[in-house]
Amino acid sequence: MSINHYTNLEFATIRELQAQLAAKKISREELLKACLDRFAKYDEQLGTALEIFDESSILARGQNNPNSLLNNIPGLIKDNICQKDRNLTCASKILQGFKATYDATVTTNLKQAGALVVGRANMDEFAMGSSNEYSAYKKVANPWDMTRVSGGSSGGSIAAVAAGLVPWSLGSETGGSVRLPAAFCGIVGIKPTYGLVSRYGLVAYASSLDQVGVATRTVYDNALVLSQIAGHDAKDSTSAKRNKLDYTQNLTEPTLRSGLKIGIITNALNAEGVQPEISQALDQAIKHYEKLGAEIKPITLNTMDYSAAAYFIISRAEAASNLARFDGVRYGNRAQGIQNLNQLYAKTRGQGFGPDVRLRILVGNYVLSAGHAGDFYHNARKVQSLIRQELLACFKDVDVLLAPMHAAPAFKFGALDNSLEMDLLDYFTCFVNLAGVPAIALPCGFTKEQLPIGFQLIGPDFSEDLLYQTAHAYEQTNNWWNKQPAGF
Ligand code: GLN
Repeated sequence: MSINHYTNLEFATIRELQAQLAAKKISREELLKACLDRFAKYDEQLGTALEIFDESSILARGQNNPNSLLNNIPGLIKDNICQKDRNLTCASKILQGFKATYDATVTTNLKQAGALVVGRANMDEFAMGSSNEYSAYKKVANPWDMTRVSGGSSGGSIAAVAAGLVPWSLGSETGGSVRLPAAFCGIVGIKPTYGLVSRYGLVAYASSLDQVGVATRTVYDNALVLSQIAGHDAKDSTSAKRNKLDYTQNLTEPTLRSGLKIGIITNALNAEGVQPEISQALDQAIKHYEKLGAEIKPITLNTMDYSAAAYFIISRAEAASNLARFDGVRYGNRAQGIQNLNQLYAKTRGQGFGPDVRLRILVGNYVLSAGHAGDFYHNARKVQSLIRQELLACFKDVDVLLAPMHAAPAFKFGALDNSLEMDLLDYFTCFVNLAGVPAIALPCGFTKEQLPIGFQLIGPDFSEDLLYQTAHAYEQTNNWWNKQPAGF
């Protein structure tokens, strides 16, 4: 483990790179070249990108916006977010060869901010998974230990930032897919309030939960990128009508909002299976917040125990209906040797979707079927609304909530071959998505084996500015963020 003294471009933050560009220590082309060289050198082993674009096409698409702090800064976008005329596969065989015909709103926003999008990030197929072992193309390794998973489903986006290949990336969350890998890889990841960021051009998994998220090495950088992509979009009917905000505005000093009350979700902290190293790191983080002046209140979130089950049903139900569009007629691949329409559907979908996606579609259709929707889907919706009510009630007593991100650090490839265990990784994350509220994950230590440990802060609707301020105060009075995995 080494400390970054900003002598090099790798592992530099957006802010630092911007200063180097402004001082003319590097040019836009040199910065991009350095980034592409790092992908060429390291990504064969890491597997973070499904495609890195050629230099000239990246530069040709980058718009110049001298007023933006993202101007000329390279980054990576998850491969379920449309980039016009680029391939879009969602890491699935069914979309092999498909090209996006338009830019997602977030892609447009980033281009207008002058950012340079260097490629398409690897992911679990259709964003379904927690380890990035379910990509149809390749796995993503954890930069802290290449024999371990990065976490998923936005593993490519997160590992690329954690290995210092790019300073920012976009991922997506349905049930924890930005925060979980961020915690496994020791970086910062946010899941914004549902509706804050446009979903136009984000391939749907479970539309009522999906949100684009941001991954960076620092809280400041994260706020900077979110400021560019947040805001109302008439092309997304679930987009919230909110004024655009500069989320970096409260990040000048590493101080907490005065009188800040933090609720600790004690049943999550004491949940079965949480390893002592994880709870010790969390205890330290809580003590640190106390030192910074926060008032700490233990709370119990009773509905949390039902969240993974409700999430399981709702996400599969919506996935089954959203993925019905991949039928061999309109998008991507079509199976060969077809005799009739039923064969066209069955063969195309059977060959195109991986086993986990097929399983989810089956479960989704089952829980929505006439005889069962009442028992499963409608009950899950009721549980969802109870979770939201309980969380909102908590926010009458405390400003933000603090909880673990995971019970154990990143596991070895293949270690969770049981899909129930994989699904239970959602326990610490999916209640946030079901409630629609924002949460940010950030690093708070390392295990003895030098594997990152993360925690999360959760706030009420549209409290991103408070979450960033609270996270920033912690980050800037610790140096976890500044640690780098060896070998990059
Ligand atoms: N692990 C969860 C799932 O597979 C979360 C995925 C996500 O947030 N996209 O559904």
